[in-house]
Formats: sequence, structure tokens, C-alpha cells
Amino acid sequence: MRQVQQLDAGRVSGTQPGLFQNGAISALDVLEAAPDALVLIHEDGDIVLVNEPAERLFGYRRDELLGRPVQILVPWSYRAAHAMQLARYRNEWRRRPLRGGPELFGLRKDGTEFPVEVTFSPLASPKGLLVILAIRDISARKRAEAERRHLIRERALYGAISRLARHDALTGLANRGLLKDRLTSAIASADRHGDKVGVAFLDLDRFKHVNDSLGHAAGDCLLQSVAARLKASVRRTDTVCRHGGDEFVIVLPDVKGREDLEKAAAKIAAAVGAPHRACGHELHVTASIGIAMYPDDAKDVETLISHADTAMYYAKEHGRDSVRFFTPEMNALLIERRELEGGLRGALERREFVLHYQPKVDLRTGQMIGAEALIRWRHPERGLVAPQTFIPVAEESGLIVPIGQWVQFEACRQAVAWRKAGLQPVPVAVNISALEFRRKGFFEGVRRVLAETGLDPSLLELELTESVLMESVASTAEILWELKSMGLRLAVDDFGTGYSSLSYLMHFPIDALKVDQSFVHEIATEGDTSPIITAVIAMGRSLKQRVIAEGIETEAQLAFLRAQQCEEGQGFHFGRPLPPELFAALLAA
Ligand code: C2E
Ligand code: MG
Ligand code: MG
Repeated sequence: MRQVQQLDAGRVSGTQPGLFQNGAISALDVLEAAPDALVLIHEDGDIVLVNEPAERLFGYRRDELLGRPVQILVPWSYRAAHAMQLARYRNEWRRRPLRGGPELFGLRKDGTEFPVEVTFSPLASPKGLLVILAIRDISARKRAEAERRHLIRERALYGAISRLARHDALTGLANRGLLKDRLTSAIASADRHGDKVGVAFLDLDRFKHVNDSLGHAAGDCLLQSVAARLKASVRRTDTVCRHGGDEFVIVLPDVKGREDLEKAAAKIAAAVGAPHRACGHELHVTASIGIAMYPDDAKDVETLISHADTAMYYAKEHGRDSVRFFTPEMNALLIERRELEGGLRGALERREFVLHYQPKVDLRTGQMIGAEALIRWRHPERGLVAPQTFIPVAEESGLIVPIGQWVQFEACRQAVAWRKAGLQPVPVAVNISALEFRRKGFFEGVRRVLAETGLDPSLLELELTESVLMESVASTAEILWELKSMGLRLAVDDFGTGYSSLSYLMHFPIDALKVDQSFVHEIATEGDTSPIITAVIAMGRSLKQRVIAEGIETEAQLAFLRAQQCEEGQGFHFGRPLPPELFAALLAA
């Protein structure tokens, strides 16, 4: 069975005198006992001897291998490389065995390839150098390595995914989920150390304005800039979270009391308030910040965040750009707002809305040249509610759409009625909210109102704010031109308070700019110069648009505006908004 004759005992015994000759142990016994596949080759590359593990490994019978070049155990594609390796290591072999030699590939008789690790051991003999190749199949190890690599990659991927799942994609800040975890552990730690935890709820003031007038890309840039400022303005142990939109929540653990939080809030407000560079724009924003404290204001995560939110809302209501600490009374404000929305829902059916009319006046002649329709809500318990109180709620809830349709219809109907009553026909202006203007079918709605009421289109003026106009400029231009071609008049309301791009304004078919009241109010005494008003009037003139000054209350303001050659005005100085009967009397006079 054993092909001892193939082993040139003379050569082997030449290096190991005595061991094989005394018959105590045959060279073959040694080879067979080895766990590894062993292939003995002559220096010229021919196979001299193989053991049984080698037969099994390569799938050859012994007689198929003996005397054949060792290259038949090497895949074709590797033969050249193997030959080079062999040549390179030949000199090495002469000196010492090479352990853990280079990783190579073996070829089975059936043509399959597999990774092997080969140890080369030289065996000097009179007929030349013999080399014992100890060959180990390392497929399993390779597989395990590949699996481990795969696992590592998978774990890294999982880490990235879970990071994404817990962070906001735009700003990289923590998201709500992570916020709750951090707040929970901050509370636990505060309990252990007898500390307090602050929760600051921050909302950017008039962010929608930036988004609407400069576009969402600029809005996103601003949010990123704010996020970076927030992170930089708090301690490393604080958690800054994007709560959604332009809302951020900051968890401030380990605070001693309100004073610590006041200092932190001042730092945060200053950081946000410094000018931002956002996509090529220099932007100034402020923030309204509400703060709730554990354990004083609430004991659980949800209530803490909600109280901080309420305090923020309060900060907004009271002039923005401010910090408010939660008090239990603040909840009343929120409840009121919810009641307002509830009441607003049925107000149209209950016919609770009325329009008041304020005269627009030619500043040179003092003649009335138009009217602005301003909505009021006759609330069953509260009395007459001003639009500033309920229009924002109507806008938020979408109710502004049906309400706005009613306003258009009612204003047109009233104008026609006055005319039929033989009163002087004056153009009537209605205010349009962003949500109405952006809605599909706005244009058709206006056309229908005109058709149903029979009002001459040139007697209807639409007032749109800058932010409405600057939102998606291309579609805005299209709608404006459609309205214009119907014969309507278009005015920019509250001009000067937004971020209008003048080059766009120039391309819109605008008839009038209504300079915001805040500029007019700055004219305190006669002879004062308000550079903005002066500039706006000059600009309107160069754009060939009418300029209407809003909120004229004093003779001094009127005199200044006249001197600036502002043509039109509106304000308490000429007349407050009046119910239709009283306004009719004014028209008659
Ligand atoms: P607006 O369009 O800029 O209207 C001018 C506001 O300034 C009116 O307030 C008017 O009463 C007030 N006002 C006029 N002259 C003076 C003055 O000399 N001094 C002062 N301090 N105020 C003056 P009102 O009626 O409370 O309306 C506030 C805002 O509510 C309006 O600002 C407009 O943006 C919105 N609004 C009013 N009616 C409607 C409506 O039917 N639909 C929509 N979407 N918004 C409306
Ligand atoms: Mg207006
Ligand atoms: Mg206005």
C-alpha cells in the first residue's frame, strides 16, 4: 500500500543520519502522521512524495502525483505567480524554513480552487535540495474572516442607521427620540445629585418669512447655521435637538436653578441673534425661548417639553425675541387659542363676520379714492374680535380659505350695492393670505366672485404681502399676470417688512406699494426725515407704482409725506375702519 520505494531514502537519510536507517521510524510514518497535507518536492519542482492528507486535500491518488510537476496543484491563473514566488523563496529555503509562508491557492483534481497556507521546509540531500511543503486548507478561516468583515461592516452600517434614526438629517442635531432619552437620563441624574434640569424650547421668529421670500434652500441654510450656533453656545453635556421645522429644544442638565438657566438662555439668544450667512444672504433672526424646569414645573419628560413649548408660545405672543419661564397661568392662553379655533369653525355659518371699511385718501386733494375692507369677528361673548387675534388661527387651521372667499364676495357685493344706491364708486381692496393665494383655483374663485356680484374688475384691488409674492416667484408671476389681465388692481401690503427682491417686483404687474405703518410711525415731528420712507417713495415712483402710506395718524406725518410727494394715504387721521352703514354716510358726504 505504502509506496515506500518512491522515497529516495538515501537522499533523506543524508540529512537525518541514523533516524531512518535503524528502522525505528520510517520517513513515511512521519509524513503520514502529520495533520497537514505534506508534499515533498525536488528543487526542480517535481513531486517526490505526498501523504494521505495531501491526497484527500487535492483529490488525487498518490500515483497520479508522484513525478509530476508541483504546478498541477496550482490553479492556472496563479501558476506564473507561484513560480515567481518559488524562485524568490528558493534562496530563503536554503537558510531556514519559512513558516506561515505566503497565502496561495491550491487546485483540486476536480478543478476547484481553494486558499491555502504553505510552509516551506528545506531538506538538503546529495542529489539536490528537497522541499517539504506543508499545505493547510484555509477556506474555513477565510470564510470566517470574510464573515467577520461582513459583520463589522454590518455593525458600522447599523451604527450609521441608528445614528440617522436618532439625528435630524438637515442639521445633524438630536431628534425627538434622542431628546426624550437624554431628558430621561438627565432627570435621573438630577434626582441622584439633587440638581435641576432645564428644558428650553426655541422657535425662530418669522422664519416662515425667510422661507417664503428667499426660498427653502436659504431657509435650510439658515436652520443649519442656527443649529451650529446653538451647539456652540451650550455646554458639551447639553443636548440640542431639532424638534421640527424651526423649533429646537435644548436640555440643560445639572443646573442649580433659574439663574443658571437665565444665563444660558441669554447666551443662546445672543448666538442665534448674530447675523447669519445663509446661501449668500446675510440674515438676521431672533428667537422666542420658553423654559421649563425639572422638578419645579413638571416631573415627566412629556409635560416638561410641553410646558417649555407653552412658555415659548407666550414669548411669541408678547413681542417675540424674548425668554419666558413657564408659569401655570400660561396654560390659560393656550386654552383660549383652542377655544378661538373651535369658535372660528362655525362662525361663517353663524354669520358672525363683518367687514369694516377704511378710506384711502389722495394726499394732495384730501379726496377719498378707495376703501380697504377689514374683517372683524362679532364673537357672541367677546364682542368684536380684531383680525390680528383670529386671522393667524384661521391661517394655521386652513379656515382662512372659506373665510377669505366670503371676504371677497362680501366686499364686491357691498361695492355693487353702494353703487346701485347711487353712491360714488370707489375701488375696494381686500387682503389675501398666502394660503388663499397659493391654492389651486384662486384665480377662478376671483373670477366667479366678480361674475356673481357683477363688480367691474377695475374696482377690486387685491392686497398681497411681500412674503406671499416672493414665495415661488415663477408661479406667482403667472397668477399675477392672469389677475392683471382680468383688469384687477394689485398692491403690495406692509411693504418694507419683508425681504422683497426688487428685481422681481419690477417684473410683477404691481399697481401700488403700501408702505408699512411702522415707517410712517417713525415720523414723529414735522421736519423729521425718515430715510426709508423717502427711499420707498422714490423707488415706487421709479417703478411707476402708486405709493400708499399706511397708518397716518398725525398732521406732522401727513405734512412730511406730502413733502415727499407721496400720493396716497390711509390712517386714523383720515378715518378709522367703519361698519358699512357709516362708511356709506362718508361716501355720501
Ligand atoms: P393691513 O392690511 O395692513 O391693514 C391695516 C391695519 O392697520 C388695519 O388693522 C387698520 O385698522 C390699521 N390701521 C389703519 N390706520 C391706522 C392708523 O392710523 N394707526 C394704526 N395704529 N393702525 C391703523 P386691522 O383691521 O386690525 O387689520 C390688521 C391686519 O389683519 C391687516 O393689516 C391684514 O393684514 C389683516 N386682515 C384684515 N382683514 C383681513 C381679511 O379680510 N383677510 C385677511 N387675509 N387678512 C385681513
Ligand atoms: Mg391691507
Ligand atoms: Mg398693511
